[in-house]
Amino acid sequence: MEPMALIDTLGRPLRSLRVSVTDRCNLRCEYCMPEEEYAWLSREDLLHFEEISRLVDIFIGLGVDKVRLTGGEPLLRRHLCHLVELLADKPLQDLALTTNAILLEEFAQPLRRAGLRRLNISLDTLVPERFVRLTRQHDHATVMRGIQAAAREYDGTKLDAVIMRGINDDELEPLLDFAASIGAEMRFIEYMDVGGATRWSSGTVVPRAEMLERLRERFGGIAAVEEPASTAPADRFALPDGRVFGVIASTTAPFCRDCDRARVTADGMFYTCLYAADGLALRPLLRRGDTAGAIAGAIEARWESRADRGAEERVAVRERTVFVPVSALRADPHLEMHKRGG
Ligand code: SAM
Repeated sequence: MEPMALIDTLGRPLRSLRVSVTDRCNLRCEYCMPEEEYAWLSREDLLHFEEISRLVDIFIGLGVDKVRLTGGEPLLRRHLCHLVELLADKPLQDLALTTNAILLEEFAQPLRRAGLRRLNISLDTLVPERFVRLTRQHDHATVMRGIQAAAREYDGTKLDAVIMRGINDDELEPLLDFAASIGAEMRFIEYMDVGGATRWSSGTVVPRAEMLERLRERFGGIAAVEEPASTAPADRFALPDGRVFGVIASTTAPFCRDCDRARVTADGMFYTCLYAADGLALRPLLRRGDTAGAIAGAIEARWESRADRGAEERVAVRERTVFVPVSALRADPHLEMHKRGG
């Protein structure tokens, strides 16, 4: 049966679901988790794999055809391969995972065997000392081994780098070269002022226009890759030598109008925007034994009333500073990107 077309108030369908499987992370990236202390979800509150699988079935019934597992760092969730096995046979166009690659050397192959189709790997720098400064960890060589393991197992891998002025904005070209060397596509992400980015400042953002200008100076003409049907966050471009890369301009030129994404946190909160203040708690519905139809109805009602344009609304703010201050994050940790799933 064709899934019903669920449409929000701006005519946007629900197609893509990001499922966070843990809020824990083994890095402390400057742009995501710069604080010393965090409040973690308790283990009893995490959705069990069977609950996630059930939810994914319900979302598929509502039109979702792409699922991405994320976190925190998803590879920290124990027995993740089992969850992938549960999801692998569902009628999805894409089943992907976003990871920082620290544990990927061990898990690239088992996850592939379990049915994972694609990886997005975060790689902000090729310079080990910078990695230490950016993440407060020393595992750059481990990350690089993880990426090599992934390159042997997967096609269509994307490498994601958050570009920050004065930190890694001189690495556009080396990152493009590295991505090409392992057959991956590079994507440059503008530094976003999402919840958790408590050190954000507009001066640290390198706008897409500036990234493209720098690459144009270096390589000559850059052609936009036309993809009229795409709802992917990245706009894609081609260098004169044919290499294609993406830029995610969520800070200076956001794509809210095309956004078909929703998120479920590791403890079952459903969010319709990365910037949304409120979510819908699905765990109580699952655990009190609601039928699939009743849970679908609750999700449907949320999506049908969705009017979020979080990133676009941020662009309209004149004196743009940190979006959610630390005190508000402490009061409601679900506002953190690492809870919500990037
Ligand atoms: N731990 C996994 C990883 O590192 O890919 C998955 C979770 S992480 C929150 C998902 C993505 O969000 C990463 O690519 C990360 O770079 C991105 N991210 C986090 N904070 C960001 C920010 N302030 N601006 C832009 N991207 C951000």
